Amino acid sequence: MMIDLRSDTVTKPTDKMRNAMANALVGDDVYGDDLTTIELERTAADLLGKEAALFVPSGTFGNQLAILTHTRRGDEIIVGHDSHIVLHEVGAAAVIAGVQLRATTTKNGVFNVDEVKSLIRTDDIHYPDTGLICMENAHGNGTVVPLENMEAIYGIAKEHAIPLHLDGARIFNAAAVLGVDVKTIAEYTDSVNVCLSKGLCAPIGSVLAGSENFIARARKNRKLMGGGMRQTGILAAAGLIAMKEMPVFLKGDHAKAERLAHALDAITNIDVIWERRDISMVFFTLPESVINETNFVEGLRQKGIIINGTEDKEYRFVTHHWISDEDIVKIVEAVKSLIG
Ligand SMILES: *Cc1c(COP(=O)(O)O)cnc(C)c1O
Repeated sequence: MMIDLRSDTVTKPTDKMRNAMANALVGDDVYGDDLTTIELERTAADLLGKEAALFVPSGTFGNQLAILTHTRRGDEIIVGHDSHIVLHEVGAAAVIAGVQLRATTTKNGVFNVDEVKSLIRTDDIHYPDTGLICMENAHGNGTVVPLENMEAIYGIAKEHAIPLHLDGARIFNAAAVLGVDVKTIAEYTDSVNVCLSKGLCAPIGSVLAGSENFIARARKNRKLMGGGMRQTGILAAAGLIAMKEMPVFLKGDHAKAERLAHALDAITNIDVIWERRDISMVFFTLPESVINETNFVEGLRQKGIIINGTEDKEYRFVTHHWISDEDIVKIVEAVKSLIG
């Protein structure tokens, strides 16, 4: 079996999930009578400390649905310059919600309080309205944003009556690192989107949580976006296991990444970026003069290891539920044999 380090999205469902999916009680979720989906949404809302939640097809869908539901066309939204919404969502906010993105420079996902204050628009005929602030935790670059920063930004948002959405694709990873429940993080948000299909191993889906009123409007917008799905209980059955039983494994995934990072960093020419080593990701640089990207990617593939090419000149290896301790040893040996 190949060792797949491209992302935690590659995680396949567990046997227990597959059994639950095969036997799931289903209905038609557009008619609102898919009982397993109702249970998933209730469970997500309770875990996140929100009134209601909504099952959606993907993390991108959940973020974009939140943006569409919180804002009006022509609004401006404040987002981290290196956020998933800015970098990896195909410019969807311009297409779907028709909003403009105002990037704030973050330090590994941490917002600068004074800069955010200065970016909020005042009442002037020339200005768009600031319709939303979006944060991300855990951040896609491997770091966890401290609760104090979320609390500070949420405070500013409330002062200006602007909603705050959290891209919590990996909120369970953040909670594991911070040693808190996910609801402690979600406390500083009006809405939060959580991916079930990353480190938590569900095959498909995310959940968007927020107030009753917000989720009712999001449910209608989800239909508009083509996300009204039918026998979703089959997916929700796996999602329930993901939320209830898989978070306990994340600490172990993080520890595997830490061990992998130390072993890789010990190899000449590999420089692990320790500043961003909080969750299941190891970012490192390896000069082209030592091995070029194509040879590194192909060389590892021939040894049974799948990785992505670089982004911003950095490699990223992601550990997850299906990477074993023996795999970590194999990965390090394979890298050494290519560049050692
Ligand atoms: C993965 C991810 C998403 C959503 O990804 P999908 O592939 O659309 O499910 C959103 N935000 C962050 C930070 C992510 O890592």
